[in-house]
Amino acid sequence: MELACLDLEGVLIPEIWIAFAEKTGIEELKATTRDIPDYDVLMKQRLRILDEHGYGLPAIQEVISTLDPLPCAREFLDWLRERFQVVILSDTFYEFAMPLMKKLGYPALLCHKLEVADNGQITNYLLRQRDPKRQSVRAFQLLNYRVIATGDSYNDTTMLGQAEAGILFHAPQNVIDEFPQYPAVQEFEELKKEFLKASAVHSV
Ligand SMILES: [Mg+2]
Repeated sequence: MELACLDLEGVLIPEIWIAFAEKTGIEELKATTRDIPDYDVLMKQRLRILDEHGYGLPAIQEVISTLDPLPCAREFLDWLRERFQVVILSDTFYEFAMPLMKKLGYPALLCHKLEVADNGQITNYLLRQRDPKRQSVRAFQLLNYRVIATGDSYNDTTMLGQAEAGILFHAPQNVIDEFPQYPAVQEFEELKKEFLKASAVHSV
């Protein structure tokens, strides 16, 4: 049995924080783990900025609902779901991803969770576990699934390494150079071919 594990942001949808920063004009929200490597420090800063601008969860979800999946992402996902069981492994939060998951037909998603007060203020966040993408792949393998995984960035590389086959998609050149063991493609049509190539069930 084969399972396809997909990263979400950068693969099927835009980077949510960047897109949200652009929509709202809040420049400071464009900081990523490249600027602030400690994720905890980064998230606390993001939540503080949201508070300062008076953005509670409903307002954030309203902005996010104006975003769209990347062009051709829905078509690719539907194609993949006809051929593989698909699980999306993401470091985003359910509350942020949901407006976009609707536009993708609600595929299975494993990610993190926010703590939200009754008035909509985001008070904290809960990470599901450490190294969640790799741990998820390990768990699927224990269930006798052979896993083909794809992602675009550093937070995907342990997942790609754990999977029976890993594919870089939309990855920046520095990631491609650092992880030459994975095929790297930029277009969904090429990604389809890589999935078929990596599959033990489907042939090209
Ligand atoms: Mg990503």
